[in-house]
Formats: sequence, structure tokens, C-alpha cells
Amino acid sequence: MGRTQDTARGTGRLLIRRAQVFPTAARAARFLGVAPSAYLPPSDVPPPDAALDVPLMDVRIAGGRIITLSGRPLDPLPGEWVIDAGGGALIPGLHDHHVHLMSLAAAARSVWAGPPTVVDRSGLQAALRTAPAAGSVLAADPVAAADQDPGIAPKPGMGGVEGGWVRAVGYHPSVAGDLDRYVLDELCARRPVRVQHRGGALWVLNSAAIERAGVDSCRLPGVERDGAGLPTGRLWRMDDWLRENPAVPSVSLDLARVGRQAAARGVTGFTDATPGRGAGERALLVAAAASGALPQRLDLMRPEPGSHPARDRSDTGDRSDTGDRSDTGDRSDTGRPAGPGPRAGVGRRDDRGAGAARDARAEPDASPSRDGVPAMEAADGTARVTDGPVKIILDDDRLPGLDRLICRVDAAHQRGHPVAVHCVTRVQTVLTLAALTAAGPVDQRRFAGQPPSVGRHRLVGRHAAGSGDRIEHGAVIPAELYGELRGAGLTVVTQPNFVAERGDHYLAEVTDEDPASLYPAASLVRAGVRLAAGTDGPFGGSDPWAAVYAAVHRRTAAGRTLGGHERLGSAAALCLFLGHPGDPARLRTVRPGAPADLCLTSCGLADLLAEPSAAWVRLTLVAGVPIHAALA
Ligand SMILES: [Zn+2]
Repeated sequence: MGRTQDTARGTGRLLIRRAQVFPTAARAARFLGVAPSAYLPPSDVPPPDAALDVPLMDVRIAGGRIITLSGRPLDPLPGEWVIDAGGGALIPGLHDHHVHLMSLAAAARSVWAGPPTVVDRSGLQAALRTAPAAGSVLAADPVAAADQDPGIAPKPGMGGVEGGWVRAVGYHPSVAGDLDRYVLDELCARRPVRVQHRGGALWVLNSAAIERAGVDSCRLPGVERDGAGLPTGRLWRMDDWLRENPAVPSVSLDLARVGRQAAARGVTGFTDATPGRGAGERALLVAAAASGALPQRLDLMRPEPGSHPARDRSDTGDRSDTGDRSDTGDRSDTGRPAGPGPRAGVGRRDDRGAGAARDARAEPDASPSRDGVPAMEAADGTARVTDGPVKIILDDDRLPGLDRLICRVDAAHQRGHPVAVHCVTRVQTVLTLAALTAAGPVDQRRFAGQPPSVGRHRLVGRHAAGSGDRIEHGAVIPAELYGELRGAGLTVVTQPNFVAERGDHYLAEVTDEDPASLYPAASLVRAGVRLAAGTDGPFGGSDPWAAVYAAVHRRTAAGRTLGGHERLGSAAALCLFLGHPGDPARLRTVRPGAPADLCLTSCGLADLLAEPSAAWVRLTLVAGVPIHAALA
């Protein structure tokens, strides 16, 4: 592009010509078969073929927003950056509605210890023995491998690569069974090793690591011990302790890499679903947004009121384990294995304290800050960082009673915050629905005493308005609950990618449920249940396009179809990532006045829907500012 164009790029004044715009309000109605104001992409979307006769339009962007959509060619204005879309699709930027950014950044600095790259004992042994010291590799991720920097923030006395700590993540028992210190010692005794189960709640340490970390003298209940009182090496939900342990090396986080990679995939926003996020971790994310390291919009779920999030550790520089306590939607990893074990951590929360804060979440038009963090605005004057629903984690082996869960929901609602409840088993879903139904939606209380500007989009004639409360994962949802889910206005945020990534394991291992019924999608949509999606990265693959593809095909890695009746049409699948951050099942459309958070692809809409892939992404804009450009 010429010099004039280079100059124009920075002005935020763009003219995108000859683009297939989708979805516009009218087109959403036409192609999705729903009213423009409706929330849901139904499953009966027409196949991506010639029926998608989407006319070309010119789109003008200024001040971070879409100004004009025109079916007739627009003449460039002075100083405008002109992009010829050449018939490419222009869609809202993808929003990953459930992700763990810190863990994603940390995973990029760890050894991968599970499928698909590590599938057996010898593979695990090789991975552990050849691993560089904690913090410098990600063999499983070519983007990270190509984009590596030393990335290590060793504490004093950590030593170099030789003999240094091994930090491995993504382990699954299909590789080498249940791990303990003795199994790990056989695999790698010479270096301290810690391996995270892909469920996120369990770390297993070998004997060298146990000794160096001083596990034996730790009295926390998360330390599993054998009959003789010796640590087994299995640490349950002890990420905070590991993080703050001076003997355990830290990993520097490269959030910028996460941001770049996502931008190249057309992702313009994240909802970080990490439970119990502390103020320090929040500050890091806000800083990453402020510096541009994370150029996307961020919606950050809140810790439960009165919970005790990890202490502020931004001053220690140790961020290796931030987010490790993240939940995962992995259906096969719920609860801990049978047998005696300590009860630890999450789930025992009281309601002391009051994280009182005005609600500043919802869509980008909402007010931008809370808790004294300065407002950070995108180029269109909307918030770059918002605070989302309160994240509630449930573990099957210590489920709260219904009354207790209602209290926890109430505690959030009374502060004006909806909740997002982790549900991967039948009992969790049943319990959660009962609690949310009993607690009622947050809006009634919020609107009783607060100005209607808060959450106003819920007031403007949308009969199907959501309650704001969310079911995360929704791995198992009994069909008889669909009506209640719909009636309560709950949104299910699913992970279609798990069907592809873990479907073979589900088929082999899940016996208490019909594997074909896991992660329902089409049946929910047909029943009018609000549905959206997130990748759950890094516990799931973080490419939303892969998730879209998985939602369309529901094919496992081994090529088997899992729950074919739950397949979505490709437009409906794509729309799972096109919802509002604060209302994930409400579709964002490309319309004048909307924030210019957009993704332009090199192919037309029919090709995009026939073969959804990040490889098509040509340009990604947040509030009209390019955060990724692969323009010829
Ligand atoms: Zn998660």
C-alpha cells in the first residue's frame, strides 16, 4: 500500500469496499430465520451454498464505529484508508466467551504432557526428560515455538536448564494412568517435576519436587497423603501455594503472544472465566490491555463476594501459576478420583466482605470501570475492559447444599452481578438450575434501586431478554430441563471444541452419561435455550474457528461422529462467537453505530461457512483500529 494509505491507516477512518457483510440485522433475520431482535441462532440455517447470495456493500468506519453501510459504491473521503475486500466476508469480530488468559500465557511456557502430542508413557518420559527448564517451551504449539523468547523468570538458586524444574500441563490419565510421586520418579527422577492434570485442579509432583518445595511440611488440606502420612505428590487446588512458594520457579507470561495469535484469528474480545481472580492478576490483565499487549476487549469474570482471592502478587513477578486454578469444561475430568483425599480450597467461601461495585459489564457501551481502576476506552469511547458475572465453581465431591448455593447466587445478585456457574455434570446442572430459579434473575434487584442506564439493553423491548446468569460448559443438560433453562433466561456457554478434542475419550470413558448427549447444541437451540460458546483455552484449543468447525461436524480426532444430532449449521455455529460480551447469546450485527470490532476474511461468506478457518482472516479491527492485518 502506498504512503498515503500508510498514513491513513492510523486515523481510524476506513472505507471497506465490496464486502459481503454478515450478519446485518435484516440478513440475520433472513439467514438465521429469526427476527432481527432475536437472540438465538437456530440450527436450521440454510446450507452454505449459492443460497447465500449476499450482495456486496461498502462500509465506512470513523471514530471507532461503523458509520455507513451502503449497497452502492461509496467515494473515498480525504484521509480514508481504503480497503478493497474483493468480495470477502465482513463479520463482527469473534468473542471468545470463556477463556483463561493467564493460563493460556503460562501454557505457552510449559511442556505439554497429554494428547494429542503425548499419548503414552514413553512419550511422557521423553517429554519430561528433554524438557527445558520451566518456562521456555511449548512444543505443542508451533506459533509459540516460533515465537519463543527465553521467557524465564527464575528465582535465585533455580539453576539452569540442566536439573531445572519441569513444568508440564495438559496431562490426562489415558497417557500413563493416575500419576503420583512414584510414577513420576520412574519417568524422571533427576529433576524436580510438576505435572498439571488437564482438569486444572490437580498438580502432581515427583519426589525431587516434593522435597524442594517443602510439601511434607505443608499443612494445607490439599496435600494428599498416604496411610503413613507421606505426601503422594498429588496437590489439589494448591496453585496459590505453588505460586507463592519461593522454591518453585516461575514462568513469565507473554500475554502479547496470546493477543497476537487471537488477533490473527479475528478475535476482538475475550471473556476471562478464571474463578477467584485476585486483584493483582486483574491488574496484570488491565495493564496488558492498556499497553496494547492484549489489543482485544476484555470482560473479566469476578471472584465471589467474600471469597479470598489470591493475594496480590504483581510485585513478586511470579505469575507462573496464575489461572492454574481455572476450571475446565472437560467432562471427563470432573471431581477427583475415588479414594480418600483431602478437601481443599474452592467451594468453601463465606460471604463476608463486600466487593461492592457498580455494575460495569454488559456490552461495550456500558460504563467502563470499577473498583478504582481508571476507565480505559477504545477508540470509539467504549470500554476496553469490563467486569463480568461472578464466577462460581462447583466440584462434584463437595457440592454445596441448595440453600448454600442460593446464598452464593444471592450474594452476587445483591451486588448487581449475574453469575456464571461451572456445570459439567448432571448433578451440577440440576443443582445450579434449582438455585438460579430460586434466586431469580439479578435484574429485578438491580433495576429496583439503580438507574435504568445500567443494563439498559435489557429494557428495550426484548421479550426474550436473558437473565444475565450463565451456565458454563453445560456438558450435561437433561432435556427435561430445557424448558426451565429457557424460561429462566439462562445462557449456556458451551465448548464445541471438546467434542473434537476429547470425544474419543468421552466415548471410551464416559459411562454415566450417553457420550452422544455431551455438550448439546442443536437441541438447545431448537428448544429456544440461549447458547453461545467459548474455547476454554488453554484447557481447550484456543482457536474459535476450530470450535466452529467442531460444532458443525462433531467429529472426534479419530474421525468418529459424536452426537450428530447436535450438529449446528455453520452460520449458527459461527454465531456462537458473535454475541455480546455481556450477553453472549445476543448476536452482534454489522450495523451503523455499532463499534467497529470487525473481522474481514479473504474469502466470501459461502467459502467461510463451508470451511470455517482462521486461515481466511485478513483484517481484524477493534474500534476501527487494526490489530491484525494480512493485507496484500
Ligand atoms: Zn474454564
